[in-house]
Amino acid sequence: MQGLYAGIDLGTSGCRLIVIDAGGGIQAATRVVYPANVEQAPELWWSAAQQVLAELPDSIRASLQAIAVDGTSGTILLTDAQGNPTTPVLMYNDARAVEQSRRIATVAPRESGAHGATSSLAKLLWLLENFPNQPHAHALHQADWIAGKLAGHLGFSDENNCLKLGYDPVKREWPRWVKSLVPEHLLPGVFVPGEQILAPSPDKGRAGKGFLPSIHAGTTDSIAAFLATGANRIGDAVTSLGSTIALKIISAQPVFAPEYGIYSHRLGDMWLAGGASNSGGAVLLQHFSRAELESLTPQLRPGEPTGLDYYPLSRPGERFPHADPHWQPCLAPRPQDDVQFLQAMLEGMTRIEHEGWRKLHELGAPYPKTLRTVGGGSRNPAWMQIRAKLIGVPLLPARHDEAAYGAALLALKGTAGRW
Ligand code: ADP
Repeated sequence: MQGLYAGIDLGTSGCRLIVIDAGGGIQAATRVVYPANVEQAPELWWSAAQQVLAELPDSIRASLQAIAVDGTSGTILLTDAQGNPTTPVLMYNDARAVEQSRRIATVAPRESGAHGATSSLAKLLWLLENFPNQPHAHALHQADWIAGKLAGHLGFSDENNCLKLGYDPVKREWPRWVKSLVPEHLLPGVFVPGEQILAPSPDKGRAGKGFLPSIHAGTTDSIAAFLATGANRIGDAVTSLGSTIALKIISAQPVFAPEYGIYSHRLGDMWLAGGASNSGGAVLLQHFSRAELESLTPQLRPGEPTGLDYYPLSRPGERFPHADPHWQPCLAPRPQDDVQFLQAMLEGMTRIEHEGWRKLHELGAPYPKTLRTVGGGSRNPAWMQIRAKLIGVPLLPARHDEAAYGAALLALKGTAGRW
């Protein structure tokens, strides 16, 4: 069999492996779901990663050329020189490092990705303070640790995972202010996502017999999911219509607007800029069940606007495209007809998305040239029609919606030397 490329995604609920060929066609896929009520620990991720690889047919595993790993952004731990954890893991949504984030705010530039109590830098400071006197050698994100275990050596990461650790993606270095906060030797070496970290080698000790692919720098789970859609050129945009509305677009230059929660990740020589509104599918679920959404959708009339001007939010406060903690929801007047009510909410969310694209453009990103959609809302054809009309760009189908596919593309692109 020709060379194959694998992406491993360490998601919130399990581990997924997708293997593709040089044309991007899926050759195999395996999954391990983490047991319920078990606290996430590095050993759990490692055994899941080993299992998804072990479940591949032998012929596929023997043809693997390259692997890249993505993981949840901001999930971090410290290890000793051999890679054994010296602290517990602080997960992506852990917000205990409030005091540490205040200290970061006094030295970090406004546009740094290291702000906030959930940043990996705030968590790293917390871990260092709460687990002193340990043989700490490496600060590693979830994806870094797994890729390091596969490679058989640790201490590297990628430009995307490191954004929240304070890495400067413009200058491509660890800024001095980061080194003033944490011991420099703990900071990982930073690679471009997809870049080869370890060449294929005959070292059978690495990950089992006959399993010798090269290991490539990975990325975060949300960037891997973006890449999975097939978006890969400047102006390619992806909207995620999940609980919230998240916009991402490939830009020639970075956009940083912290007041709107806008940061830019580096993707080779391009940038991925994005922002997220608090509006989205969670508001729909406050008013309708999933079954009602399904049954009302065919009755929507996208060609006949309701004339209502809603701003659907679950509670006051918005970040993007308006940065205002007191921004008020608007879901009135409430028409008698549920179909009209639903349509008005979808129209309101479409206006928010449109404003979002214009805001990103105003701040330096291109206006979308193509638009792909992921998330639960993408299943609503009437909403797609409303969006296509207002936003005025071609809506393309997403090639794939799983992060593991995006990680596999990174392994492929890294092998082809295009990043
Ligand atoms: P999450 O962000 O929670 O992972 P998903 O991507 O799974 O979300 O999307 C779930 C969202 O999709 C829900 O909030 C729901 O409102 C929305 N949704 C599901 N079905 C429809 C539909 N037919 N029309 C519009 N939105 C829908």
